[in-house]
Amino acid sequence: MAPTVVRIDHNSPTGTLLDASAPLIRIDDEGYTRGDGVFETMLAVDSQVRKFDLHLTRLANSARLLKISDPDDAAWRQATALALESAGPGTRTGLGVEHTVKLLISRGTPDEGPYGLVIVSGVPDSTIEQRENGVRAMLLPRGHDPAEDTSYPWLLAGAKTLSYAVNMAVLRHVKSLGAQEAIFTASDRRILEGATSSVVVARRDQGRLTLFTPEPNHGILPGTTQGALFEGARDSGWDVGFGPLYPKDLMESDGVWLTSSVRLLAPVTHLNNQALATSPDVTETLMGFLRSR
Ligand code: PLP
Repeated sequence: MAPTVVRIDHNSPTGTLLDASAPLIRIDDEGYTRGDGVFETMLAVDSQVRKFDLHLTRLANSARLLKISDPDDAAWRQATALALESAGPGTRTGLGVEHTVKLLISRGTPDEGPYGLVIVSGVPDSTIEQRENGVRAMLLPRGHDPAEDTSYPWLLAGAKTLSYAVNMAVLRHVKSLGAQEAIFTASDRRILEGATSSVVVARRDQGRLTLFTPEPNHGILPGTTQGALFEGARDSGWDVGFGPLYPKDLMESDGVWLTSSVRLLAPVTHLNNQALATSPDVTETLMGFLRSR
């Protein structure tokens, strides 16, 4: 089924519903020809977008780093409500009816300039399967330490840009090895993030589980799901902590999960083909921390 698309631009500041089967993008659009733009991928359950504020804040930060104008939050909310109202039936799960909601800003064409899109579709079966059955992940080098990029604004550290070809290439690579996700490591073997996810590790100390994640502001994308999960865990009296984490910390942990907005939480069952400790009870508890957010 074709996605539902709403476009925001200077002629239509709060969004117009478009026919997704008609041509929508000009051939000289720099979002398309150069990947020059930013995006967010969000989850809506029963037409309510989860963590909308966190996504709008991160989108505004990405747009600021690219010096591209960003529609205001009220416009995004109105356009998203219109897209969800007009959307297809979505995907029914135990949470409710789910839709994937993508917000995108393209640099546009030299004469017309930037514009925003809201694109609503169902949730892929493979994503639901990862939530339910977990993922096999492979550790792969990022090639350089993205923490070093943070001093150079033109390297866009922490921006969620449309230039995702590397993230897609690494997923194809791990698929050829029988896995579903990659976990990038820095040159010193520090754990960074998944190709499209954040990494969360549980470690038991004196009977109590503590959650850890790599330091979010060190060149990786600060995950809104990881942030919401840690907030929920803290509210329930858990301790949480931040990296550095190394492969050994994952191998010897009491559980590793990949978190992202639509997937929510996928336990890592195998890392580099080695079985990891998994606990359906802990996964269920962590899902509970996310469920209300
Ligand atoms: N890191 C990367 C590189 C991602 O692409 C994503 C999500 O797409 C995440 C982390 C997780 O971010 P969020 O939880 O905000 O979806």
